[in-house]
Parts: sequence; C-alpha cells; structure tokens
Amino acid sequence: MNTRLASAPVGTTALRLDAVTKTYGTGETAVTALREMSIGLTRGTFTAVMGPSGSGKSTFLHCAAGLDRPTAGKVWLGDVELSGLREAKLTAVRRERVGFVFQAYNLMSALTVEQNVALVPRLSGQAVDRAWLREVLERVGMGGHLDRRPAQLSGGQQQRVAIARALVNRPDVVLADEPTGALDTRTGRQVLELFRQLVGELGQTVLMVTHDPVAASYADSVVFLADGRFAGELHRPTAAQVSDRMTHLGEV
Ligand code: ADP
Repeated sequence: MNTRLASAPVGTTALRLDAVTKTYGTGETAVTALREMSIGLTRGTFTAVMGPSGSGKSTFLHCAAGLDRPTAGKVWLGDVELSGLREAKLTAVRRERVGFVFQAYNLMSALTVEQNVALVPRLSGQAVDRAWLREVLERVGMGGHLDRRPAQLSGGQQQRVAIARALVNRPDVVLADEPTGALDTRTGRQVLELFRQLVGELGQTVLMVTHDPVAASYADSVVFLADGRFAGELHRPTAAQVSDRMTHLGEV
C-alpha cells in the first residue's frame, strides 16, 4: 500500500500551536481556558489529549481547528498560519485542511453513504473524484455499503462513514472529539484500530480528545492538560499508566 491519505510527507509538522492562550469574556468574569499551550504534531502520528473536565480540552481542539480564535499565540495548519486569516478564508482552510470526527456521527439521513462523503468536496467547490471516494470508503471498511442510508447502518459503521468523510479532502490533521463515546467497547476498539491503521499505514495525523485511558493507549503519545496548561506527556503508554497519570494530575 503506498497511497497516502495525507496531504504532505510524513515527518513534517501537520499542526502547531505556539503559546496559545484563550480567554473567554473580559473583566471579572473572564475565564482563561487555555494558557500558553505549545505543541507540534508530526505528520503520521496519533496523539490523544486528556485532562479533567474543564481543563481546556475542547478549547484546545477548537483553537487547533480554527473554530475559535486564540487571544494570544499562533496556530499553523500545515504551512498556513491562522491568526491573520479573515473568516471566509479561515472557513475554506478548515474545510480543506481539517477532518472532524465527533461522538455523534452527524450523517445526513436522506443521503447514501457515498453521497454523505461526497458532500465534503462538493461543499469545498471541488469536483468529486469518485474513484478516490470509493477507495477511502474501502479503506474504512465501508466499500460494500455505498448505497445504504445511515439508518441502515450500525453505530460503528456510521462512525466509519464519518471517518471516511473526515479523510476525503486529504486533511493535514484529523481532529476527533470522543470518537468512541457513543460506541460499545468492542466497536469502539475497532474504530481505534482503524485510526491506528490510517496513521501507521497511510501517514494520516490524528489528534483525539478522550476521557478513556484505554482509547488514549492506542495513541503514539498522550498529552495531559490541567487547568488550561500543558501538564505532561506520555509516549506509547499503557492504559494503566494513563489512568495513573490522570489520578495524579494537578498534584505538585
Ligand atoms: P474541557 O473540554 O476540558 O472540559 P473546556 O475547554 O470546555 O474544557 O473549558 C475550559 C474552561 O473554559 C472551563 O472553565 C469552561 O467553563 C470555560 N469555557 C469554555 N468555553 C467557554 C465559553 N464559550 N465561554 C466562557 N467560558 C468558556
């Protein structure tokens, strides 16, 4: 297999945050959700983000995706720096360079599997490359279900279609927010195996927010957040090591 799903060579930086701070509101009610967060994701790696509720995980993901503008600091998606971009350009960059996978699959119920995935290039105003579309669906194990509608699929199958949809524009990075949150344990593991496969064999870059230490243990590295700050990193940890670190987060 030598087809690359990603847009640029493995080893370069897919996503970079440089001292990103995000403060919501002003004055006495201001909340600083993220404090001077810096991280670089090398292409072809799988990173999990963990931290207690309210530690800034969603804010981190939103800033990384260009959905939220940092109060200070910079975000690069590939070679594009986001802070200088106007809203329309930012939306275009996001569509072209980021793939999203959520806990809810968010598929269009009236459309077939193939049409759901084809919607992405259509929205970007690109011609639909049907051979590529089918290859991506094949890769995620949905090649035999092109004409089905979401209601005819299991949760795991719907999430596979959502993953195909996230990959079809060959994004710099796939951002996944609790992607296994709605799946049973076995199906969830299969989806995590799929992420590993997309990263390991195809050079995709995945950043996943999760609260599940087992899910995090599928990643190459796990980044911890506490109170909006970077609070350490583990490389190729076991689920037990992740759990242990979570228990002690915030302790000095
Ligand atoms: P997590 O995803 O780890 O639970 P969040 O990034 O959602 O954490 O939130 C971090 C902090 O920022 C919390 O204190 C939260 O209340 C606050 N926050 C998040 N979004 C907003 C917002 N839009 N307006 C005000 N405060 C927010």
